[in-house]
Amino acid sequence: MSISVLQETINANFLRINECIERSCALVGRHASEVTLIGVSKTHPVEAIKAAYKAGVRHFGENRVNEFQEKSVFLNHEPHAVWHFIGHLQSNKTLKAVQLFNMIDSVHSLDIALKIDRAVPEGDPPIPILLEVRMDMSANKTGFDIDAVHDGFEIMMNMPHLDIRGLMCIPPPFEDPDQARVFFRGLRNLRDALVRRCAIPLPTLSMGMSHDFEVAIQEGSTEVRLGTALFGKRLDNHWPQRDAKAAGE
Ligand SMILES: *Cc1c(COP(=O)(O)O)cnc(C)c1O
Repeated sequence: MSISVLQETINANFLRINECIERSCALVGRHASEVTLIGVSKTHPVEAIKAAYKAGVRHFGENRVNEFQEKSVFLNHEPHAVWHFIGHLQSNKTLKAVQLFNMIDSVHSLDIALKIDRAVPEGDPPIPILLEVRMDMSANKTGFDIDAVHDGFEIMMNMPHLDIRGLMCIPPPFEDPDQARVFFRGLRNLRDALVRRCAIPLPTLSMGMSHDFEVAIQEGSTEVRLGTALFGKRLDNHWPQRDAKAAGE
């Protein structure tokens, strides 16, 4: 795809997404400014990220530390971009993740929280994080169980280098997005319970992907993570430039 076609495609997708966000907010009396769009750029090339930035996207999500490390070399002209890690963070990547990303939206265990806390340099501000919760125990392989969030919350709240901003979840990809509603509502209720118990503001609810973000917004999402809707289909699990390298280019 030529750069100009890519730009036009992403501009059009961005417009359509914003209309959907506005419509979903209006349905439940919310304002669109309460919802942040995260452009999930995993597997997509740097050119797509730059085009989205030009279109007005300011938040980006990547799910692999190494992939983003390679891309970040080419991303020096997007001064207002905020980079979110949204994938499964492995313990041996926490230091790199803390160095590369502004936020970690998918903290999935107490152990990883501790490792992130230790990876933030002394004197730096705390790193904003979200806790990923397994709302559907049968489908989600990763994340805190609801009980584990309650049990570990105060410990994490007191970790000096973490700034817990809220919760995140990934319901199963139901054919009918309305089936995800119960999980979105559950995450919001969990957030409300933690706010009451721990007297800490938890403004962020990261929930909703391309197929179900409108339902998520109706249930209070403040952060929708959209890949396909913004960038189009992902070709496979690999970042294309990595394949080019593997092919010896
Ligand atoms: C890939 C991914 C998304 C975006 O998925 P789409 O269905 O393409 O919008 C959102 N959140 C996480 C955690 C992801 O890994």
